[in-house]
Amino acid sequence: MNTALGIDLGTSELKLALVDETGALVASAGSPLTVSRPHPHWAEQDPHDWWDALVLAARELRERHADAWARVQAIGLSGQMHGAVLVDEERRVLRPAILWNDTRSSAQCDELMRRLPSLPQIAGNLAMPGFTAPKLLWVAEHEPELFRRIGQVLLPKDWLRWRLTATAVSDMSDAAGTLWLDVGRRAWSPQLLQASGMTLAQMPAVIEGSAVSGTLQRDAALALGLPEGLPVAGGGGDNAASAVGIGAVQPGEGFLSLGTSGVLFVVTDRYRPNPDSAVHAFCHALPGRWHQMSVMLSAANGLQWVTRLTGFSSEAALLERVEALSDAERDRAPLFLPYLSGERTPHNDPHATGVFFGMDNETDAARLGHAVIEGVGFGLADGLQALRDAGTEVHRLTLVGGGARSAHWAQLLANTLGIELQTVAGAEAGGAMGAARLAWLALGRDERDVCRAPTPRALFQPRADRHAALRPRLEGFRALYRATRELAPRA
Ligand code: ADP
Repeated sequence: MNTALGIDLGTSELKLALVDETGALVASAGSPLTVSRPHPHWAEQDPHDWWDALVLAARELRERHADAWARVQAIGLSGQMHGAVLVDEERRVLRPAILWNDTRSSAQCDELMRRLPSLPQIAGNLAMPGFTAPKLLWVAEHEPELFRRIGQVLLPKDWLRWRLTATAVSDMSDAAGTLWLDVGRRAWSPQLLQASGMTLAQMPAVIEGSAVSGTLQRDAALALGLPEGLPVAGGGGDNAASAVGIGAVQPGEGFLSLGTSGVLFVVTDRYRPNPDSAVHAFCHALPGRWHQMSVMLSAANGLQWVTRLTGFSSEAALLERVEALSDAERDRAPLFLPYLSGERTPHNDPHATGVFFGMDNETDAARLGHAVIEGVGFGLADGLQALRDAGTEVHRLTLVGGGARSAHWAQLLANTLGIELQTVAGAEAGGAMGAARLAWLALGRDERDVCRAPTPRALFQPRADRHAALRPRLEGFRALYRATRELAPRA
């Protein structure tokens, strides 16, 4: 059976997936990565460590699955977005890569907005320190010598591509995370580049995720034990590639990732920016499609927090008590604002805080636990509304991440959002799976054959009566934020 190899360059792990022609996972392997934090707010990695991790994971997969490895037909790439790998004219790395979670460039975001107030409309996103452009303004200011020597800026996975193919290429979905791409037009924006002092010559070529970016070069082929000349697909940024991995490829399809933070991802038919509500609009990794994301900074983290706070031994143990409450008890439980780390969509308010409201003598751990998982659902309902405000339709969401372990929470979310949710097996391999699927598309395979949604493990239909009963509580949740936001400490 022939396979495609997906390479997903995460922040804490580089993952590989071998995927067959039906888009199904054959085997996977990973190799850990560490983040260096030399100063507060900084997060860096040495790109050469990424290459070593790739060679290591490839060796493991090759040894365990020699047959499938020998039948690799193409390679796809996905990975952590927004990071800046700075290379000189000879493509030598100039400094450690500045990662997506490095927040040193807050002041530079303000400067970018001052220089080009229309930035969010072109880039589909607000200027935030996670993105690439403000990082380059920081380098220009603090490392001017080095800034002058920059031949090219590559995104993390695209630096790996350079090592594999000797081509400087990015794909639309990852390029959309730089704040240099005109996301609606799917091309570098001269205006955005100029605002951060960059030139078109310093940008890689941009192609669709399902197009061929180059072929495997001899030295890389030798290092990985693969044949020279294998095609390497454009691939995608981690969220876009994960979406392809779980079959979210058509408008209205998407996923809800309930990890430490939360992401609501929906494919759209057009470019639909809504930066005023801090919605992220990106190109999808597939031609002619875009995607939007609402981001919740503290999601399943809230459950972990309240579990610790109430002294339960595990999330599951607290949830057992929460499940035992009646609907009437739930509808009298306190309300909770889940903003333990500030909030992104829709408020873009770093000062937002967690709030419990409406405690009485009946309030116990179970009711507090319920308030928290319900509050996370309400926050996500606000995120969904921000997508709909931009004209987006949502048909179906696949629930992934640690929070998907609780069927009770999944049902509550379906009732709150009024949308059918499903859980699937194998969502963890998402990014690498998606990258491998994009490699199959680059070989000319049909999207309908390769990008199928996995068989659902469970389906959660919204209950109309509970959706209606939750409405006044959602209104209360929104009023609570409006009433308390000015009280939050600003320091
Ligand atoms: P990360 O974003 O850090 O990768 P994960 O997807 O691994 O996060 O999910 C971790 C989250 O899963 C924790 O915040 C925790 O609250 C939540 N969690 C752990 N156990 C359960 C459970 N039984 N039901 C629902 N959520 C859970």
